[in-house]
Formats: sequence, structure tokens, C-alpha cells
Amino acid sequence: MSGQTFEVFSLFPDAVAGFLRGGLVGKALARELVSVHCTDYREFATDRYRTVDDAPYGGGPGMVMKIEPVVAALEHVTRLRGPMHRILLTPAGPRFDQRVAERLAAVPRIGLLCGRYEGIDDRVREHFVDECLSLGDFVLNGGEVAALAIIEAVARLREGVLGNPESAARDSFSLQDMSSPTGSKEQGAWLEHPHFTRPPEFRGLGVPEVLLAGDHADVARWRREQAWRRTWALRPDLRPQRALPDDAPLYLVAHFAAGEKDMSERTALIAALAAAAGEAGAELRVVSPGGRPPEGAGVARAAHFRSLKDLARELRRRHGAAPRLVALGPASDLPLARGAAPLLDLLAASGAGDLSAPLVLVLACEATGDLARPAANASQGRSGPSSTAPGGLEAAFSPVSPRPSRLASGLAETPSMNDSSGPQPVQAAALLAAVALAELKSRRSTHPSELRHEQQ
Ligand code: SAH
Repeated sequence: MSGQTFEVFSLFPDAVAGFLRGGLVGKALARELVSVHCTDYREFATDRYRTVDDAPYGGGPGMVMKIEPVVAALEHVTRLRGPMHRILLTPAGPRFDQRVAERLAAVPRIGLLCGRYEGIDDRVREHFVDECLSLGDFVLNGGEVAALAIIEAVARLREGVLGNPESAARDSFSLQDMSSPTGSKEQGAWLEHPHFTRPPEFRGLGVPEVLLAGDHADVARWRREQAWRRTWALRPDLRPQRALPDDAPLYLVAHFAAGEKDMSERTALIAALAAAAGEAGAELRVVSPGGRPPEGAGVARAAHFRSLKDLARELRRRHGAAPRLVALGPASDLPLARGAAPLLDLLAASGAGDLSAPLVLVLACEATGDLARPAANASQGRSGPSSTAPGGLEAAFSPVSPRPSRLASGLAETPSMNDSSGPQPVQAAALLAAVALAELKSRRSTHPSELRHEQQ
């Protein structure tokens, strides 16, 4: 790739040139990967006072940059060094971002027009530039800082400017192909994972263990998961908004601890969960290791399994695809998705990425203090967007509303006779399941026929 040229037009060309001498752009300039020319509008003023501004037509405060010196400067530089893609910097333009930087990185000659005062006579915007760009929703005194930001962001994407070409591809906002095998073609971006360096401890503040242990696969998994979590926490707009295919089977599993417990409570709970499942077009299954299925709970005997593994086997046989098992409520060691959109994104980004496989929400039902019992028991090891925890649970899912943590804690508490503050376990479990299923239902694809067509 041959060098890229920026032509900066400004009333303060020395300030622009001075800044560019430092850092990686300075090095790139020295190696002629990038070149920057700064042109002073004032040199193209026509009167003896070298006037570049005038009072606005219609009156009002401030001055406006005159059109003649601006156009004269543009035309002079075009004659001297050739045509360029002309960009006017203005807060009224579309926002500059990484996508725009990527597009501009392929443009060999870029002109950046910096305004001052109230801005440049608007005929320049209408007739003498190719596009407008804004740095953000705030007003600067001049376009120079915007021009410098654009030069840095664009130049670092050019081959050879960064020491390690891989780092640009891994930076925040870099676009990734996020198509899943069954979904439509999708692109999305991440915020990058956090970084740490020596010392390993500073005033009692440590760094994540996994980074010190030196297992590359573990580090890669951890970084992917951190990037995913950060993006969903801070910039969910960057990720693809996926839909659950309309024909993807949905199951709710009531998972009980081993042993015989209070059967009447189980029965009530199963009835409530069956109703919640029915409402959302999901089917209920019961897993109780060693126990016998509760009688008369509105679920057929056939819907009872001794383990999640047995259930998974049966679902695979029935649907011809391995089910995706997700803990309902927070679970240690599993990546937690708050809301249906992050859950679907997490599942699409991990493993087979197949969102049309049966989706199974596993609810730990015994009020033994930990909502996520099956998850916590099943996954002793690693987790991340692309790993599957042993035991088959891939992720934990908390619906966004209403206050899943309160529901979860209500569910986990053993009900006490004189405590009427929190929701009782049966109610809490049914509500949690209902809210989670409703959120998933609302993310069913609205065009199932198109989707089916794509899958064929
Ligand atoms: N009166 C104008 C602001 C002029 S600020 C308004 O209210 O919209 C003067 C110059 O600073 C502008 O001509 C433009 O070149 C530059 N500038 C200010 N804010 C900017 C931003 N957010 N992005 C890009 N350029 C900006």
C-alpha cells in the first residue's frame, strides 16, 4: 500500500503540524507511510489585511469564515498536488467513528477543512466538499482537534503504521463477522478486554489469576468473555440484535435436588411452572435425581428425568440437534447474560452457534440457598462465550425485569412463617420463569418463513 496524504486547511497550521510530529503518526510521517500538508487559509485572503472572516448576513454575534480564501486554498492545493476527498469538519455532520475511519483508510488523498469562529460560509458545505464529519455532540472552537483525531484514527489503520498489525484488528469497535450458521449474515463489534501489566500487586490490588497462569487457551477464553461482558454492560448497541428462530423448541426445566422433599410444595411449584411454560409456548420437564416424579402436577410422567444428561439425550433424539442448556438466574462459573438479547448473542457466539437448536432453561427449584445449584455443581471449570461448561450448562440467564436478583433471592430463601417481605419460593420461581420466557418470546423472529427459507 503506498502512502496516504492528508491535506489540512486551517487558520492554525503550525499547531496541527506540531502535534503530528510526536508518536506513531510522527514515525509514520518520517517513514513516508503517511504525509500531512497544512495550508493556511490566510495566505489566500485577497485584501491587504488578509481578512478571512466577516460579519454574518442577517446579523447576530460572532464572525463567519469567508468563502473566497477557503475555495482559493482548496483549488490551489488541488492544482499543486492533485484532487482529494474533501471533508468539512462541523458539529452538524454525521458522527465520525471506527466504520468511517476504516472507509477513509482506503482513500489515498484526504482534505480536512477546519472552521473557526461561527464556522465557514455554508456555500462551501453545499458546493465544495464531498462530505461532512463531526467528532461528537459538542462544540469545539475550531476543527483542528477534530482533524487530528481523524488523522490518528485513520492513519493507524494503514499497513505498517502500527508496530503490530494485529492490534488494530483486535481493538475496540473493530468489526467482526458474527454470522451464525443458522442466522442471517451479521456484523458486530466488541469493546476490547481489559489490559494489565506489572506489578502483579499494587496497594493490595491484584490482577486476574488467569493472566498470570500462562495458559494461552485460558487467556484467550477469558479475554473473549471479558470483551463480551463489557460490551453488553457498556455498549449493547455494538452487538448484533439476534432473534430466536420462530421454530426453535423452548423448554423449561424444574431441577430438584436429590432425595425426597416436601412433595406438596414441589407439586405446587410444578403446576405454576407448567402454567408459565404453557403461556410462552414452552414445554416443561422435571429433573429430580433419584426422586420419583411428583404426582398430579399437571405434567406427564414421561416429562420426568433423573438427570440433565438424560433429558439432553432425549431432546437430541426428538429434535435431531443437541439442546443448549442455560441456567435460569445467576450461576457462578457461567457467563451471565442479563436479558434475552445478550443471551442469544452469547449462545450464537459460542459452540455451534446454532440458535435453532432446542433452548432449555434450567431452574434450580429446591430452596436450598443457591438458585444456580445445577450450574454451580456441574461446572467446575472454565467458561466463556466459546466454551461449554461440563454438565452441559453453557450460560446463565437473568431476565432484565422485574429485578431478577430479588426474585432469585426470594426463591433461594427458605420460607419462614413470619416473613412476608420477599416473594415466596413458589411465586418467585414461577414469576422468574414467566418473565424469562416472555423475554425470549418477545425475541422470536418476526419473519419465520424467511428464516426457514434461509436455513434450507
Ligand atoms: N456555530 C457552530 C460551531 C462553530 S465551532 C455551531 O454551533 O454548529 C467552529 C469550528 O469548529 C467549526 O466550523 C468546525 O470546523 C469546528 N468544530 C466544532 N465542533 C466540532 C465537532 N464536534 N466536530 C467537528 N468539528 C467541530
